[in-house]
Amino acid sequence: ADQIRVAIAGYGNLGRGVESAVAQNPDMQLVGVFSRRDPASVTLLDSNVPVYPMADIEQYQNEVDVMILCGGSKTDLPEQGPYLAQFFNTVDSFDTHAKVNEHHAALDEPARKSGKVALLSVGWDPGMFSLNRMFGETILPEGETYTFWGKGLSQGHSDAVRRVSGVKKGVQYTLPSEEAIARVRNGEQPELSTREKHVRECFVVLEDGADEEAVRNAIVTMPDYFEPFDTTVNFIDEATFAAEHSAMPHGGFVIRSGETGTQSKQTMEYSLALGSNPEFTASVLVAYARAVHKMASSGDVGAKTVFDVPPGLLSPKSPAQLRKDLL
Ligand code: NAP
Repeated sequence: ADQIRVAIAGYGNLGRGVESAVAQNPDMQLVGVFSRRDPASVTLLDSNVPVYPMADIEQYQNEVDVMILCGGSKTDLPEQGPYLAQFFNTVDSFDTHAKVNEHHAALDEPARKSGKVALLSVGWDPGMFSLNRMFGETILPEGETYTFWGKGLSQGHSDAVRRVSGVKKGVQYTLPSEEAIARVRNGEQPELSTREKHVRECFVVLEDGADEEAVRNAIVTMPDYFEPFDTTVNFIDEATFAAEHSAMPHGGFVIRSGETGTQSKQTMEYSLALGSNPEFTASVLVAYARAVHKMASSGDVGAKTVFDVPPGLLSPKSPAQLRKDLL
């Protein structure tokens, strides 16, 4: 069968992840990368595909089956999504939860006009976590759903650590509180604030002559960012920082705790431990790009989310093969 022709719009962390993920899927082929920067300045990880100016993207309508949008959620996707849905089947990872319906509406109109599918908010959260929240509350209607994030690198909190005087380098990880998770797994259905669900852990390289206690105190008492949380600060040297704190880990848990029948306690749990947030997110985008291609080929149109995609379409296997291997 012909390979699915995939292209990337926007080449940052997620774009690089999509390049690697497509290479792991033999039924797909990367046919191009589009960037707003000068193509000569964009170096791919290890594909020989061309980098084209984003301004020329309309010319490639007939050469791409699915365009994977890898721009930022804040300003890129709200602009690029509706524009590109006029010409391509698209997949994006829009993660501003509060504006998801706005983004859906902005994509639905151009996608219906062009007869394309525009799949939004794919990844792990939103994405795989959303599906698992839906399974949980649907299968166990009497219960509570809990989402915990981490261990994950938080960009905003890392920036806040780096602004403290005496800090040369710093990162911040958000971790789920072990105590809170234990209570949820135990079926207690506790009421937990965000503050009770997560703890913060910082790793800091000090400037020469800076005082540990002063820096620690400035961090843990910082209003909003750290003061409301259980925060620990670890001091390390530059070599350790470079070796152990340059990756972008993330992950978390979705747990549904409920009761059925005669007060039987039931717990559903989905967890992710990700060595690289963007590479995993990209892997989800690529699997869903396959589904988008199948949906579009069978005449589906308009804006869609993970709730609208039959799960078997993610797989390169046929329905019969899936039944035989996995059912
Ligand atoms: P990023 O690296 O900042 O890339 C965003 C855009 O910035 C790229 O598309 C690229 O566009 C441009 N860019 C990248 N490197 C650049 C450079 N060196 N100089 C100038 N411009 C550059 O962002 P990302 O880490 O890929 O994340 C993208 C989005 O993914 C995030 O905003 C987030 O919303 C989403 N996300 C979703 C999930 C989920 O689970 N749903 C998980 C993780 C992330 P051009 O090539 O056009 O310049």
